[in-house]
Amino acid sequence: MQQYGDAAETAPEDGLLLGQTERYVEYDAAGRVVKGQDIKAHSRYEEDVHPNNHTSVWGSWWEGGQWGYACCHQTIKNSYCTGEAGLVAAEAQADQMQLNIERKAEEDKAREENGGNLEVCVMFLFAILHVRHLCSCLTLLLMH
Ligand SMILES: [Zn+2]
Repeated sequence: MQQYGDAAETAPEDGLLLGQTERYVEYDAAGRVVKGQDIKAHSRYEEDVHPNNHTSVWGSWWEGGQWGYACCHQTIKNSYCTGEAGLVAAEAQADQMQLNIERKAEEDKAREENGGNLEVCVMFLFAILHVRHLCSCLTLLLMH
């Protein structure tokens, strides 16, 4: 947890610098950029931007084959940061998920005595994770 805190402390400076740069962009009557024409280059540094109140950058978290935010462990790029609360909730969900998966695995194992169908288990895990992300996305939509 502490390691994320350290990363967050150095990060706002980048966002501030970027914000300042963007303010200098000027457009002519035709909508073309007069000043700050290098602004497109910033897409290259998108990983330095902290959108939607996130205190960590996109890609600072990795789970189940998906990138996310270390600050709240969300794996939806456009999601709003739920911070510590979201992190705790996500962990609780993940624990519950793990319990469910283990229970399911045991059931499967009991059913087919060999129980060696790991591939199906992994696919099930990914499906569950995907549903969870959809759920947290919907929750966020309702909240905002
Ligand atoms: Zn976040």
